[in-house]
Amino acid sequence: MRPSFAARRNLRNSRMSDTTANRKKLYIETVGCQMNLLDSELVVGKLRNEGYELTDDIGQADTILYNTCSVRQHAEDKIYSALGRIRQLKQVKPEVTIGVLGCMAQKDQKQILRRAPHVDVVVGPGQLAKVPELLVLAKEQGTPQMAVSLPRTAGSNQTVTESFAEYDPMREPAMRPSSFQAFVRIMMGCDKFCTYCIVPSVRGPEQSRPASVIIDEARMLADQGVKEITLLGQTVNSYRSVDAAGRTYRLSDLLERLHEIESLKRIKFITNFPNDMTDDLLQAIRDLPRVSRYLHVPAQSGCDEVLKRMKRMYSVALYDDMLARIRETVPGAAVSSDFIVGFPGESEASFEKSMQLVERGRFKNSFIFKYSPRQGTKADTLFIDDVPEEVKKRRNNDLLALQTAISQEDNRQFLGRPLEVLVEGPSKSSKGLEPGEVGQLTGRTACDRIVVFEGNERLIGQFVPVIAEEASGVTLFGRVVTMDLVAPRA
Ligand code: SAM
Ligand code: SF4
Repeated sequence: MRPSFAARRNLRNSRMSDTTANRKKLYIETVGCQMNLLDSELVVGKLRNEGYELTDDIGQADTILYNTCSVRQHAEDKIYSALGRIRQLKQVKPEVTIGVLGCMAQKDQKQILRRAPHVDVVVGPGQLAKVPELLVLAKEQGTPQMAVSLPRTAGSNQTVTESFAEYDPMREPAMRPSSFQAFVRIMMGCDKFCTYCIVPSVRGPEQSRPASVIIDEARMLADQGVKEITLLGQTVNSYRSVDAAGRTYRLSDLLERLHEIESLKRIKFITNFPNDMTDDLLQAIRDLPRVSRYLHVPAQSGCDEVLKRMKRMYSVALYDDMLARIRETVPGAAVSSDFIVGFPGESEASFEKSMQLVERGRFKNSFIFKYSPRQGTKADTLFIDDVPEEVKKRRNNDLLALQTAISQEDNRQFLGRPLEVLVEGPSKSSKGLEPGEVGQLTGRTACDRIVVFEGNERLIGQFVPVIAEEASGVTLFGRVVTMDLVAPRA
C-alpha cells in the first residue's frame, strides 16, 4: 500500500533528521481535505517528539494510522477496505497498533471496532491531542481506546464546542511536509448545516481562532522560511474574532495584518461561502498585492430549487451577483467552484441549470461530486436518493467535460506570457530528482494554476518566471525564463 503524499514528504524530512535505528516506526495514510493533511502533520509532529519515526513501508510499522474522511461514501469504503487488508498483518504481528483518526472515527465510533475488531485506537478530529496517550494505553491494557467529541445535540453549544478541542500544538520545521509552504487553520467546525453535509457533525461547532494566535503562528512559520501560507476554514470568509480590547477581526482585517509579514510572499485562503463574500474582503484582495487573487467558492448547483433543498441559503442570482462583484473589484481573479450532481430531486432541467452556471461562471476549475447520502444528515432523512447512479455518472461526466473545455480556454490566455511560479517539486510523471538533477518540475501561480516545466531540482521552493507554451484543461506547460521579467499575476 502506498503511503499518502504527506507521509512520503514527511518521510523525506525524517530521513534528514532521524538517525536512530530503534525509534518506533509510524506509518500514516491520509485521505480527504487540507484540514486532514494539516491534522496529520500535527499528529506526526507530536509522535515524532515521542520517539516515533515515519516509514513508508507498512510491513515495517509498529503503529499504523489512518486519518479519515467521511464526506462521501467512497472515502469511507477506501478506509474500510484498507482495514480489511491489514487484518492479516495484525494476526501475524499482534504487537502492531492500529488507529483510525479523523472524521470517520467521529462518525462511526464503535461501529469501526465492530467492523474491524483489530483496530486499537479510534480518535475523532476534536480529540487528536490524545493520540499519543491512547496509543500507549491500548498497548498497556490490550483493549481498544476511543476518544470522540459530543454529538451536536448532546448539550449546550458551549459544552459541545469544548468537546471539539483546538488542535494546533506546534509548528516545527522538520515536521512540515514542505519547508516553504504551510497551512494555517483559522477556523474549526461549521454551523451552516447544508442538508447533504456531514462536516458540522464530525468537525463540530464553528469556532474562529483568535487573530493574535494566527498572526503569531504565521510569523513563526515565516521565520522558519515559509513563503506561502494557506489559511484554512470550512467557510473561511465567515471568520470573525474579537480581541481582549473588543476589536472585531474579519477575514479582511486578518489578511491586512498577515500582509505586514513581508517574508510571506503569498497568502491564500480556502474555502469561501458565497453569502460571506463581502466587499471589504474583495477590496482587501485587490489592495494587498501578496494576497492571492484566487477564490474557491463552491456553488453546488445552478438551480434555485435544488439550492433550497440543500439549504445553501443563497439563490443563483446572488451567486451570479457575487461573481460580478469579484470580477469588478478584483480584475483577473481566478474563481473555482464545487458542484454536486444527482442531489435528490435534481431533474434534467435542474441539472441543465448547473451546466449553464458553469458556462457563464468561467471558473478556473470545478470539483464535481456525485451526491452521496450521509447517514445523520437532513438530506438523508428528508429526501429519497432518487437519481439513479448511471444518471449521476452521466451528469458528472457532462459537467466535467464542459468545465475542462472552459479551463483549457482559460489557460490559453496565458500562452506566451511569463508567469511567476512557486516551484513545489518534481512533476507527477517524474519519479523524483536527486540533488542538482534536471527534470520535470511542477509549481503554481498565485492564482493556483498548475505549471509544469523542465528545471533544476535546486529551483524547488523558489519563485521562477516561466513562459507558458502549451495549455491543457488542468496544466500549463512552459519553460523557465532566464532574463529578469516582471510576471503578471495569473
Ligand atoms: N465547506 C466547504 C463548502 O461549503 O463549500 C466544503 C466542504 S466539503 C468537505 C467539500 C465538498 O464536498 C463540498 O463543497 C461539496 O461539493 C462536497 N460534498 C459534501 N457533502 C457531500 C455529499 N454528501 N455528497 C457529495 N458531495 C458532497
Ligand atoms: Fe458542509 Fe455546508 Fe459547512 Fe461546507 S458550509 S462544510 S458544505 S455544511
